[in-house]
Amino acid sequence: MIKTDVLIIGAGPAACAAAVYTLRAGLKTTMLGGANLGGQLLQTNDIENYPGFIDPISGFEIMDKMHKQCKRLGAEILGETVIKIEGAESPFRISAESGEQYEALSVIIATGAAARWLGVKGEGEYKGKGVSACATCDGFFFKGKEVAVIGGGNTAFEDALFLTNFCSKVYLVHRRDGFRADKLTVEKAKSNPKIEMLIPYVAEEIKGENGMVTCAVFKNVKDGSLKEIKVSGVFIAVGSIPQTGFLKDSGVNLSDGGYVKTDEKMSTSVKGIFAAGDCADEFYKQAIVAAGSGAKAAIEAISFVNLIK
Ligand code: NAP
Repeated sequence: MIKTDVLIIGAGPAACAAAVYTLRAGLKTTMLGGANLGGQLLQTNDIENYPGFIDPISGFEIMDKMHKQCKRLGAEILGETVIKIEGAESPFRISAESGEQYEALSVIIATGAAARWLGVKGEGEYKGKGVSACATCDGFFFKGKEVAVIGGGNTAFEDALFLTNFCSKVYLVHRRDGFRADKLTVEKAKSNPKIEMLIPYVAEEIKGENGMVTCAVFKNVKDGSLKEIKVSGVFIAVGSIPQTGFLKDSGVNLSDGGYVKTDEKMSTSVKGIFAAGDCADEFYKQAIVAAGSGAKAAIEAISFVNLIK
């Protein structure tokens, strides 16, 4: 059993911001970041909306800086995946997938969100064989190839633009005329000669040969007609789902969409357990908002621990 003052579940912007505060308050802080240390930001190419960086910075670089900052202040960042939190009151018992057990006076849940999949025919079969939810990670493998990106948010548009660095053609497939992505990014994509918009279409099936994607079938939402397009890759960018499944039976209340319910002080339904970042944010899902909520959660966790310690 490893004992700590504050156990932070996650290692993304919310988790790192929280750790900076708890460490500077002199509390022993343990971060359990799961297998993908740094979360969704690792999959973002150019971040231009995080203050303090004059030029665009990659998600990988910004997370690397945050981790180094936490470590400099004394954080222990472990690649452990939490499977259970137990205890109606502090101290809480936390179980990791590895079998390791932790005991913490306070817990900050900052597990973020993971890619949402479409569930269409062929998607599961060709995952990693042409189907991907991470253009940053996999784009390089599609050099000179034609690919499709599905979605109408910032992720889809940024992925499409990023993929034009490698691919000969990128279809951006979206189910309706309006986009969630910001105007500037949409305009950039529209004026890129390698990007062709396919609207309003939804994916019907992803097909392949010899275990690799060769084409995708899209259905026109208005007239039901089908279009089969030869592509080697299909990038799914249709949003994310909060990573909160492990909180089942923990006493921490979740919304219908699976987000952790918090009050304005980032307190959950269990006293001493706080939540921050995308796992508790149905609306904003921005790195800067996650970091801000991480700081709020930490300030509350510090007060809580100092009262009971
Ligand atoms: P999002 O904004 O929720 O967009 C998801 C897109 O997928 C929507 O266009 C949605 O269509 C579409 N979609 C959802 N389910 C679908 C389905 N079953 N079939 C077809 N299409 C489907 O998600 P996101 O793009 O991942 O962005 C999440 C948040 O992160 C946003 O707040 C975004 O601004 C932010 N973000 C920011 C940056 C940046 O600032 N650099 C980069 C990436 C993301 P509808 O529009 O029709 O619902």
